[in-house]
Amino acid sequence: MKIVNIDAKEEDLREINLKNVESIICAAVSPFEQELGGLKGINDLNLLQTIPIKLRDNGDDENEEGVIDLLGAYYPRTTKRDPRIELFVSSIKDSVNGNVQQFKWLFTKVLIHEFSHALFDINNYRKTDFIYARINYCSEYGRWREESMANALALRVIKEYGDTDFYEYAKSFMLSQPPEYALGVLMEDFSSLDYKRYIDSKERGVNNDLKQIWLKYVKNGNPTPNLLKKWNVVFWGEYAYYFKENYYSSVRNLVPSTGKLVVDIVMDKLNKFENEHGRKMTEAEFTDAFPNNIEIETVTKWVNVPHIQCAYEFDSRPIYEYKIELKDGICYLASLKWNNDNLHKFLGKNRYAYGFTEYQNY
Ligand SMILES: [Zn+2]
Repeated sequence: MKIVNIDAKEEDLREINLKNVESIICAAVSPFEQELGGLKGINDLNLLQTIPIKLRDNGDDENEEGVIDLLGAYYPRTTKRDPRIELFVSSIKDSVNGNVQQFKWLFTKVLIHEFSHALFDINNYRKTDFIYARINYCSEYGRWREESMANALALRVIKEYGDTDFYEYAKSFMLSQPPEYALGVLMEDFSSLDYKRYIDSKERGVNNDLKQIWLKYVKNGNPTPNLLKKWNVVFWGEYAYYFKENYYSSVRNLVPSTGKLVVDIVMDKLNKFENEHGRKMTEAEFTDAFPNNIEIETVTKWVNVPHIQCAYEFDSRPIYEYKIELKDGICYLASLKWNNDNLHKFLGKNRYAYGFTEYQNY
C-alpha cells in the first residue's frame, strides 16, 4: 500500500502508525476482495496495492469531480488523471478529540470506505475511456445508494476483522453520520453477490421512477435489511414489476424471480374466482383463464400434494412448480414453463387485467 503525505504535518503521520493501520486493512479487506474478485474476475487487479492514497490536512476546493466525503475522497480516472484516494487527516483528527485509539479506528474506517468507492467503480478503474456519468454520484439517488453501500461494505469488512471494540465504534460513528451514510448500517450483512448486483446496476442503469420510490422508502419508510436487499435485486433486473405491494425482478437468461409474480397472479385470480362464485375453479375454467401464452401444465392430480413452490431449470428452460387447489378439493401440481419472451408477452398482455406495474431498468 502506497500512502503519500501531501501536506499533513509530520507529527500527524507518526501518530497514525501506518504499519498498524495497514495490517488492519489488509487483514480485513483481503478475504472480501477475494470473494468479490472471484465473482468479477478482478482478483488480479489488486486494488489495495495499486491505487495511490494521499493524505491531506483537509479537503480542498479544487472543484474536481469525485466522490468527496467529509473525511476523505475517491477520485475516479479521467482523461487527465489517474484514480486516487485522499484522506483528510486534520478533519479525521478533529472528529475524535485527540483520542489516539479512535483516530486509528476512524482513519481505517474512512480508508476502507474510500476503497469501497473504488471497488464499486471497478469497471472504470483500469479503463482509459473514462465514463464519469455512470457513477451518477451527483444525483440524490446516486449519493444515497453509493454512500450507504460504501459504509455497508466498510462495516462488514471491519466486522470480519473481529475486533469488537473497533466494530462498535465504527457502527456508532456511522449512525452519527448523515442519513445516506447511516443507512449502510442496515446493510451490514449484504453479501458479495449484493455488491456485484450494485456494481452491475451502476453499469446498466436504473429506472428513474424506481429511483424515486426507493428514495422515498429509505428516507421515510423505516427501511429493513430484508427489503433493502430485495430492492438491490429489483435494481439489478432488466425488468421490475410491482404487484400487490410486492416488487419482482426479472433478468435475462436466468430463472426469473418473476416466476413468483406469475404464481401470485394465478393465485390472485383463483382467490377472486372463489370469492365471486363461492367455489373453486374447475380444471377446464383454469385452462380457459390461462391459455397458451404461458404453458401451464396441470400435470399431476395428487390427493396430498405437499406445499410446493420451487423454481429450477430443465433443458435450459425455467420451470416454476407450485401447488394449486381446484374444484372438489383436488390438488394439482402446476408446472409453468416459459422462456423470457413468452413470459414477457404474458406479463405485457395481463398488465392491466391484473393491475401490476412494469418498470424497465436498462
Ligand atoms: Zn463516501
